[in-house]
Amino acid sequence: MDLHYGKPFWPTLHNDRTEFSKLTTSISCDVLIIGGGLAGTMMARMLSDYQLQTVLLEKDEIGSGSTAANTGLLQFSNDELLIDLIDKIGAEKAVYFYKLCLKALDELDKYHSYLRTPADFQRVDSFYYASSERHAKKLKNEYEALRKYGFSADWLDQRAIESLYSFSAPCGIYTKNEAQVDPYQFAKSLAIDSHELGTDIYEHTEVLSHSFTDDELHFETEYGEITAKHVIYATGYATQEFAKTKGALLERTYTIATEPVENFDGWHNRSLIWETNRPYYYLRTTPDQRILIGGLDTSLSKELPSYSNKLLDKLHSMFPSIQTSSAYEWSSVFASSKDGLPFIGQHPKYKGVYFLLGYGGNGTVYNMVAAEMLKDLILYGYHPAMAITSLKR
Ligand SMILES: Cc1cc2nc3c(=O)[nH]c(=O)nc-3n(C[C@H](O)[C@H](O)[C@H](O)COP(=O)(O)OP(=O)(O)OC[C@H]3O[C@@H](n4cnc5c(N)ncnc54)[C@H](O)[C@@H]3O)c2cc1C
Repeated sequence: MDLHYGKPFWPTLHNDRTEFSKLTTSISCDVLIIGGGLAGTMMARMLSDYQLQTVLLEKDEIGSGSTAANTGLLQFSNDELLIDLIDKIGAEKAVYFYKLCLKALDELDKYHSYLRTPADFQRVDSFYYASSERHAKKLKNEYEALRKYGFSADWLDQRAIESLYSFSAPCGIYTKNEAQVDPYQFAKSLAIDSHELGTDIYEHTEVLSHSFTDDELHFETEYGEITAKHVIYATGYATQEFAKTKGALLERTYTIATEPVENFDGWHNRSLIWETNRPYYYLRTTPDQRILIGGLDTSLSKELPSYSNKLLDKLHSMFPSIQTSSAYEWSSVFASSKDGLPFIGQHPKYKGVYFLLGYGGNGTVYNMVAAEMLKDLILYGYHPAMAITSLKR
């Protein structure tokens, strides 16, 4: 499966390649991580703080999958609103999961601060607006639920929105201390640091087959074999084909990065922006003064003609005084789950086999939550969020 085509923005910023070698011998390890996107590299970095012999295999290059296409908005709020999640799994579990996502933002910040090559992690505010009057009541309920359960958020009415932004909306929720990052550099830097801390990393090494017994997990690649006590599949959206994940939806999504702009007039605090429509448009700015705007999700089999013009039109309608053109455009596969939650946990049948699939718009935050959970599952056999993200749910 081609995870993206066109020209994603982030890889154009970096000439330095990680260049880990291919696996050419047979090895054994405590933990094998398959996949070198943000999920796999974050997992590797987390495990490198423990006494475990860890190997990461990437069939292409570190960060070259969906991570290269990721727009790097990091928020505790999920595609699935808190009130909807409460309806689905009850208040206790829903609030606990939201709190894990909030904590994951701090963890991402912490791991970023350890990096020898930083990845432009910045704390920013976020604005989630009602796309139409029809969504206003539900958004107000969401705001009240966030406040009731201890999440910090501000309510903006139409007048307040018009005083802060150059576009109007009936109302919206404004949150502080969310974040943005260069996801591609983040994955590369995490891989390099994990390697220095003892993780063996191999690029251009695809896992072609596996066999599992009670005592041993065995894997074959083109030139070498691996035996492991535990394996973590951090294989991203292609896992649909590999593991026949249930309950996941695959779509195509579109993104552009503009030329650098001179000012951000009418864009309060250069916040992250998204909306209540599904699928939604979302926007952020970059440290080199560009704007990323994404959306227009469509079915995987369909191609959207002139999607970059549509995204630019949306941008210009929201910010008439920002005149710019598209410099990079790309189309990507995007996976979400039916209940908005990631798939993190043990294979229902095989001991020592785990999945780390952060499906959904919050994939990067989910990956951080997952790294913590799977570390605990491997070391202690338990994490309290297991039932929420289980593959069996
Ligand atoms: C356009 C777009 C925008 C997004 N924006 C955001 C956002 O703003 N915020 C957010 O939180 N999330 C976002 N996401 C969600 C997503 O979770 C992130 O893209 C995340 O970076 C995905 O990381 P991953 O490691 O799960 O997948 P990938 O980056 O795809 O990594 C999986 C890796 O596994 C490798 N692999 C697969 N099979 C094998 C095998 N058999 N052997 C060896 N290697 C294998 C692949 O080559 C690949 O590199 C976005 C996604 C898309 C597509």
